[in-house]
Amino acid sequence: MLLTITTTHQPATELGYLLHKHPDKCQSFPLSFGQAHIFYPEADTEKCTAALLLDVDPVKLVRGRSISLQQYVNDRPYVASSFLSVAIAQVLSTALGGRCKERPELVQTPIPLIAKLSVLPCRGGEAFLKQLFEPLGYCVNSQGYILDEKFPEWGQSQYHTVELENTVTLSDLLSHLYVLIPVLDDDKHYWVGDEEVEKLLRHGEGWLADHPAREQIARRYLKRRPQLTRIALAQLAEADEPDPDSAQESHSKEEAAVEKPLSLNKQRLNAVVATLKETNAKRVVDLGCGEGNLLKALLKDSFFEQVTGVDVSYRSLEVAQQRLDRLHLPRNQWQRLQLFQGALTYQDKRLKGYDAAAVIEVIEHLDLPRIAAFERVVFEFAQPMTVIVTTPNIEYNIKFENLPAGKLRHKDHRFEWTRKEFQTWGETVAQRFGYTVTFTSVGQEDPEVGSATQMGIFHRRQIEN
Ligand code: SAH
Repeated sequence: MLLTITTTHQPATELGYLLHKHPDKCQSFPLSFGQAHIFYPEADTEKCTAALLLDVDPVKLVRGRSISLQQYVNDRPYVASSFLSVAIAQVLSTALGGRCKERPELVQTPIPLIAKLSVLPCRGGEAFLKQLFEPLGYCVNSQGYILDEKFPEWGQSQYHTVELENTVTLSDLLSHLYVLIPVLDDDKHYWVGDEEVEKLLRHGEGWLADHPAREQIARRYLKRRPQLTRIALAQLAEADEPDPDSAQESHSKEEAAVEKPLSLNKQRLNAVVATLKETNAKRVVDLGCGEGNLLKALLKDSFFEQVTGVDVSYRSLEVAQQRLDRLHLPRNQWQRLQLFQGALTYQDKRLKGYDAAAVIEVIEHLDLPRIAAFERVVFEFAQPMTVIVTTPNIEYNIKFENLPAGKLRHKDHRFEWTRKEFQTWGETVAQRFGYTVTFTSVGQEDPEVGSATQMGIFHRRQIEN
């Protein structure tokens, strides 16, 4: 995969300063998915071209995953995709950020630039390619290819060789490529998380809010995840606000609304990880692991020797697997992880032998009559030394402004408990199955209603001789 950037701004070799890469050198950079090479096929005062050659290693892409042939044999090594964006962000980060100590003025100056992409998948065709780049002032030249010359009836492929010409700052050009290449490629085979919203807004700053195709851009960039797309579009709409003060105010509000649940989630994770460490739990099973929030935190910490995720939802496990793949752990580290599908209301041998079980925001998803089965599965059959259970504290719900009175926090919650109800349940369970239990809370504590999350920490009683 090859991207070249050419300028005729004179002296053209100044491009080397803007890119922070010397025109006389050929440099290589290792990336998690392959190698990036930067070199200059031509560099004189009239015209200078820098080339970014991306050598995507299909074997690295699938390392640590169960592999299908399709994952080995695909177009990823040959086409411009989100890997190119990652390479731009890593190898040309200073240029992308618009910083250049040696040429502080040039970095701000629009200069004539031509970017050429050897192969760009354009899902949505040439028309969509133009819809993306022309409003930003680019002159777009593209050459399409038929799928197979032997079978002309198969028609055109989605692949194009594309030339984009504009007078812009180098940092703007790189930002446009960073965002719009994955949008055109529209590959859905990887997970996007909240951090992608932040990247989209950061690299779209100054141009995305006014772009006529901003909705399609946000939707495709965020892999059609409606929740994330809504957040991004809401924040972009704020960027349109004429009054800077009111924009600032609503921006912080929006941020608070978005960050609040995130920070509660983070606090909960931190509390669970800290408790697991305090109890020296090295082998941990996450029961109802969902999309792998806790698994991710545990895998990143070498304290934990075995990390297992169990969920009844296959889809959640798939998402968890994709997110964990993106940690790019060394090969030997993957042995620490195991994911399997299972229901917490049926006895399961695979749940035995762990130092600790985490049951984070799960019990409220079980039908009340099934709680007794869950209790036996965890405390009687699996019997880990430690069990950490968290669940919402319903008393705190009046503190959530956007939660109508009497409503539970999530539509799949079958119940939510007061602190008294949770503690009574916990004490009864501990008593019945030979555990001790203590209770703590997570989140800001209110004197009247307590905090948002309640946590029960169960320890198995040692049998005394
Ligand atoms: N622990 C995760 C997910 C909480 S959401 C986190 O804190 O982010 C609740 C999860 O419990 C969902 O992923 C759901 O699929 C799972 N779940 C619900 N009932 C279950 C059952 N009977 N057995 C196993 N998992 C269950």
